[in-house]
Amino acid sequence: MKEPNKNCSKCNRLKQFRIENKKKYPSWFNAPVPSIIQDNSELLIVGLAPGVTGANRTGRPFTGDHAGLILFNTLKKFGFSKGEYKEDGFDDLKLDNCSITNAVRCVPPKNLPNNIEIKNCETYLQSTIKSHDNLRIIIALGLISHKSIISSFNFKQKNFKFGHKNKHELSKKITLIDSYHCSRYNTNTKRLTQEMFDNIFIETKKILAN
Ligand code: URA
Repeated sequence: MKEPNKNCSKCNRLKQFRIENKKKYPSWFNAPVPSIIQDNSELLIVGLAPGVTGANRTGRPFTGDHAGLILFNTLKKFGFSKGEYKEDGFDDLKLDNCSITNAVRCVPPKNLPNNIEIKNCETYLQSTIKSHDNLRIIIALGLISHKSIISSFNFKQKNFKFGHKNKHELSKKITLIDSYHCSRYNTNTKRLTQEMFDNIFIETKKILAN
């Protein structure tokens, strides 16, 4: 599986941001954040990008980010993880039949990668997807992640409309389920409620049971 090297310089803006963060916070991870991979897992969750004080600090997707509280809680509830999640990443969390990656591996300023940065990182998403031989479900957290997945499969965006709980057949084996991102903004504004997020995993479980 292809992973960006820790000094990846494909995206100048993200590299400069990384250098700034390294200077300000030398003890932080400050590098492309590697995916959490569970070999043979049937479920892959694709987030957007590391948060500056979360995954960019701890070096693990969603760890220390507000979105991580909701995601890891929900994964546990639905049996996709074991152990206790801690925000500093020093924990015994273990994913079960589930992997987590991000569409963009480096922290972007203001949490917003641009189109070129998303495209530059697509090769890693493609490689992560391909490395999962038993993959049956991909959950896209948010529109950017959804678009990146569609593009990774070389499909036309117009044939795959993003919407919470929308399902798309990516191959005979793989279904994409869209979810609103479990970000602080979306949960505070109730664009995404816990019940709505649970429904994504209820649907996932249903498909995996067949
Ligand atoms: N942290 C991540 O690693 N990914 C997200 O999408 C949000 C927060």
